[in-house]
Amino acid sequence: MQGLMRAVRLDSVGVDPSLVEVPVPEPGGGEVLIAMRACGICGSDLHVIEGSTRTAHLPMTMGHEPSGVVHALGAGVDSLSTGQRVVVNGLVACGSCGLCRHGKLNLCERLSILGLGRDGAHADYFTVPAGNVIPLPDEIDFPLGAIITDAIATPMHAIRKSGVQEGQTAAVFGLGGLGIHAAMILQQLYQVEVIGIDVDDAALANARRLGVSSVVNARDDQVIQRVREQTRGGVDVAFEFVGSAAVVDQGLRCLRPGGTCVVAGVHPNRLELGLRQETLVARELTLTGSLGFTNEDITDLLRLVSTGQLAFGDTVSHTLDLDEYQIGLDALRQPDSAAIRVVITAE
Ligand SMILES: [Zn+2]
Ligand SMILES: [Zn+2]
Repeated sequence: MQGLMRAVRLDSVGVDPSLVEVPVPEPGGGEVLIAMRACGICGSDLHVIEGSTRTAHLPMTMGHEPSGVVHALGAGVDSLSTGQRVVVNGLVACGSCGLCRHGKLNLCERLSILGLGRDGAHADYFTVPAGNVIPLPDEIDFPLGAIITDAIATPMHAIRKSGVQEGQTAAVFGLGGLGIHAAMILQQLYQVEVIGIDVDDAALANARRLGVSSVVNARDDQVIQRVREQTRGGVDVAFEFVGSAAVVDQGLRCLRPGGTCVVAGVHPNRLELGLRQETLVARELTLTGSLGFTNEDITDLLRLVSTGQLAFGDTVSHTLDLDEYQIGLDALRQPDSAAIRVVITAE
């Protein structure tokens, strides 16, 4: 396919990306050309623009949370057909390293992420390996399908890592685009009593409106004590979606004995745990990281949403055309805009 298309391109770190015209890419062997219909702007895109996360090269087309329609198939692809509605796992694994061979594709030694390692999906068209493309059920619209591939799949993976069981208690630190979905999955799928914690009033209001059973403002310096009191001794699992060493420490300290703290927030600082070593042992606490998601997480979520077992209300808070990317970026940066997930669309 020839011709030009629109693409949101980052040219240099520290400067917002701009909408430019570039050639439509050709799918290579084993790849698929997707016509983008929706692609969320992730909080991590802000880190890429600021430069705290580096891209493999510049310029780079942004965007790693897409849904769309299969437009063309590269050589050797027979698992998909043109015109098919799909979502895309934006974590492109090599498929052959030791970790990939053990099924841990999210930990691939040569992991290449859309919009970071290879051109992303904030464009009219983009290419990905066929193995990253998953059919989208008709019951799910393109914007929701898009955010399932990251904003909902990332907390799903973290929840599965936590080993949480039905009827337990959980603290969710950070109620932005990831944490709010974690709270909703925990309540709807695991009947977990959730305490949502954030410093941002708009995020707390969103959480209340979306049915999170209990919310606590983290500016209240008694937050750990409050969690312990409310759960009669501490939560079974805590989730860190903030990206702060201090919050990791809070997560550990609000656990009951045998509890697990899962960290999905990213920050380059070293952990400095206030917790005593003897407490870690005496309470048999577990601290673990959780990176991204797998095709299985996305496939399971698509099934759960299409059959009505999971519903996320209006967490797609903004849908904007590709031409309006800058408005979406500004909304995400504005603390009082109540933006949960901003999704860019194209026809
Ligand atoms: Zn993301
Ligand atoms: Zn690999």
